[in-house]
Order: sequence, then C-alpha cells, then structure tokens
Amino acid sequence: MTRRKLVAGNWKMNGSLAALGELDAIAAAADAAPGVDVAVAVPATLIGPAAARVPGLAIGAEDVHERDAGAHTGCISAAMVAEVGASFTIVGHSERRADQGETSQDAWAKAAAAHRQGLSVILCCGETEAERNAGRAERVVQAQIEKSVPDNADGSWFTLAYEPRWAIGTGRTPTLEEIGSIHAIARAKLRMLIGDAADGVRILYGGSVTGENAATILAVDDVDGALVGGASLTAAKFVPIIEAAA
Ligand code: PGA
Repeated sequence: MTRRKLVAGNWKMNGSLAALGELDAIAAAADAAPGVDVAVAVPATLIGPAAARVPGLAIGAEDVHERDAGAHTGCISAAMVAEVGASFTIVGHSERRADQGETSQDAWAKAAAAHRQGLSVILCCGETEAERNAGRAERVVQAQIEKSVPDNADGSWFTLAYEPRWAIGTGRTPTLEEIGSIHAIARAKLRMLIGDAADGVRILYGGSVTGENAATILAVDDVDGALVGGASLTAAKFVPIIEAAA
C-alpha cells in the first residue's frame, strides 16, 4: 500500500507571534509539494493565530488532556485546541514522558480523547540510549505500542512516530538499518493490534532530522515521513525537508 509522506514540525516550547512569519514560506512549500502532507505543531497559545495566518496548513497541538473538560487547572483539552483551529495533536512525546512523567497508558487516553474531538493524532514512541545499549530497543518500542495504540486506530486519523530519545536534539541518528528494523517491527506490532488497518498507518521517524539527512531517512522502507523538532523552527531549515519528501 502506498502511504503519502507526512512531514510534521514540532515547535516544542519555542516560537512567538513574531515567529509565525516562518509559516508563510512553509505553507508555500507545502503548496508546491502536493504529494506530501505538511503539518506543524505549535505551543497552545499560537494555535489560533497560526491557523488563522495559514489556513491551508495543518496546525496542531503538542499535547492535550485525556479528559474532555473539568477541574484540571492549567490543562488544555482536545476540544479547546480543535475550537481554535488545530487539526491534530502530538501525544506521548518523550519530553512529556520525561518532564511530566507521562506513560504509554496516558498517551493511549490522550489519543482517544483527541479522536473523540475529531483531531488526528501523532503518537510517539522510542527507547532511551540505555535501553538501546542493553539491546532492548525493539522490546521497549513494542511494549509502548501495545500499551498506547487505541484499538480503533487507522490511517484516517492515526500516525505513529518512532523517536529514539537519544537522537532528539542531539544531532545523532540511528543507522538507516536500525531505523528500518524498528519501523518494520512497529508495523508488525500494529498489525497484531489493529489488523489490516496497520497498512494504512504512517510511521514517522523523528530525532535530529535535517535537510541534509532527510532524503536518505525518508527512503527507508516503512518510513512514511518525519517528525521534526529543531529544524522545523525556521522555513530555511524546514522547507528542504519538505522538498526531500516530495
Ligand atoms: P529534533 O526533535 O528534530 O530537534 O531532534 C524531534 C522531536 O522531538 O520531535
């Protein structure tokens, strides 16, 4: 099955109203690459302004709460981000697992909450460096997928992102063989969980993707796109990744 490539940015806790100007050239590059889906997740405060500025570009949240509403001071629901123009959200990012203690079960609940509100979901998984060095990367990723992927996941709303934690923001990446091996294992695990729907689910690679390495990474079997942090903050760095996917 052919899956359209998805290049998704993740601004993390970066950006400002002034920085939204970067989205103009990113939206233009997305228009110039009709065979590629392009999306940018921004801080919650920027979702509304970003969606208004570039209506043709998919703008998303970096996280949502697992409940639809209620007494959760400081938290933001999927309905809230959808109302101001988000079409998707990231869940289970390793920085939230590390900083907020989120678990794969939390990611599952957040993915379900997002889906209830009509958002697409990019759900992250990935091993630590210690886990990889101990030869446990495959088992860790399999276990994360088993605990976090909803039963009703399919490619119409659900995307998986493999992001080895040690590759995030470090300039280091796994070898192409290592990426291909985890993506194949992830696809097999998805097939066990959701059957043939697994063939339609995109699996992104994330962790130090740049304009220089994107083309070779995106050419690996079962790599259906990229989740990009640092290199998504400026059009100058993000556009070459979109072009590499085209
Ligand atoms: P990076 O981040 O591209 O800066 O390594 C990727 C991510 O955390 O999604």
